[in-house]
Amino acid sequence: MTDNPTLKIDTLGRLKEHGYRIGISCGPCNRFKVADMDALIARKGEDFEANHWSITPLFRCERCGDGGRIAMQLMAPTLGPKTGR
Ligand SMILES: [Zn+2]
Repeated sequence: MTDNPTLKIDTLGRLKEHGYRIGISCGPCNRFKVADMDALIARKGEDFEANHWSITPLFRCERCGDGGRIAMQLMAPTLGPKTGR
């Protein structure tokens, strides 16, 4: 058995470089939105560590205004056609 090499994708710059995006979802109303990576990088910088604890405080739900029950989803790049979510 061989181990495939893994890659740590931990900053906004690396996420963007590898085609990842960040989805933001709201617990109370279930709204889902894909974050604008360029805007995030402009705001926080490429070296900003992107994880649940660092990203979710930056967002509030645009529909219900809730900020405390936001969840982050990492969206991996795919080779197929874009699905939109
Ligand atoms: Zn909401």
